[in-house]
Amino acid sequence: MLRALKPSPRILMGPGPSDVHPEVLRSLSIPLLGHLDPEFLEIMNDIMELLRQAFGTENLLTVPMSGTGSAGMETVFANLLEPGDHVLIGVNGLFGQRMADVARRCGGIVTEIHADWGDTLSEDELAAALEANPDIGMVAVVHAETSTGVQQPLKGISDLAHSHDCLFVVDAVTSLGGIPVDVDQHGVDACYSGTQKCLSAPPGLAPVSLGYRALERMDQRKTPVQSWYLDLSMIRSYWGSERSYHHTAPISMNYALREALRLLFEEGLDNVYQRHARLGKALQNGLEAMGLDLHVAEKHRLPQLTSVRIPKGIDDMTVRRELLAGFGIEIGGGLGELKGVIWRVGLMGHSCSPNNVMLFLSAMEQILRRQGMTIPEGVGPQAAWASL
Ligand SMILES: *Cc1c(COP(=O)(O)O)cnc(C)c1O
Repeated sequence: MLRALKPSPRILMGPGPSDVHPEVLRSLSIPLLGHLDPEFLEIMNDIMELLRQAFGTENLLTVPMSGTGSAGMETVFANLLEPGDHVLIGVNGLFGQRMADVARRCGGIVTEIHADWGDTLSEDELAAALEANPDIGMVAVVHAETSTGVQQPLKGISDLAHSHDCLFVVDAVTSLGGIPVDVDQHGVDACYSGTQKCLSAPPGLAPVSLGYRALERMDQRKTPVQSWYLDLSMIRSYWGSERSYHHTAPISMNYALREALRLLFEEGLDNVYQRHARLGKALQNGLEAMGLDLHVAEKHRLPQLTSVRIPKGIDDMTVRRELLAGFGIEIGGGLGELKGVIWRVGLMGHSCSPNNVMLFLSAMEQILRRQGMTIPEGVGPQAAWASL
């Protein structure tokens, strides 16, 4: 017989999932309502309203799709692209690559603009591509590139996209609830996110928000959306006034999202952003004080995801194994071309606490010293504490 499930306690400081607040965990054990129960319909209204506030938008079509962040990505491209449509995608990390892959699978013709993994995209290069290809109808970028720790400024690219009559699409999976996304202010036409990064709910829902330009594009489609499951024209009827059955909403995950959003606004959005900014900076100061190099230039660093270069002579896997076995701390390794080159340390949502910053820096100091690195005793935690 299998014994009852009892995983070891962990502190999730990787690129996601992040630790889930006890109140959100509690919501997952609440008995289910039916997905068309009037009380559940009220919960859906709360979720849509709170999501609009979190995204910074008045977009009516702001709903959580069933599935993880990648389902949000597929939703946007599947609904807004038709075979043969030309799209410009900024690729400066794994998730930009994934967008290009998804767009191609939707039949899109993709032009990629690349930047080094760790840099931001060049607006000049995007502008040149738009000049050279007047048939491009969409520009897509990643706001918070979780594979590198880069924050991409949005406003310039948004203006550029609109001056060429393009939709502006943004991946906000790691930014939502960590840094301001401000969909309306940034002129974002379609945006998607996930529940398991800075919103600190379990993985399983992908909030999306589409504005009027995106809806127009959907209305003009000549072909049906290839994905039945992600077809927003039908999902809209369930989340909108008709409330007609499409697929069974993941009830418990919607409970969790509602509670995660409620906690976000109980603390206050601005306070949440400040907490991420302050603690991200403290962590980064601490790491640099220990003599470690950060992978991203200071002005483009995300507070919620810090990429640290693995020092010469230090073994990637040994450090991560010791963090997990000795301290219960999970961090991420590098992806793609950054595998073995960086560690990725997340401070997302409920994981973003002074305790975690101090514990992580102290643990790292012990582990790195045992591996032969010279680090003056306590410099990391001290620098972090000083900046707190
Ligand atoms: C995590 C992530 C995704 C994918 O989300 P999943 O929940 O893993 O499907 C997409 N984009 C970015 C920027 C991410 O960080």
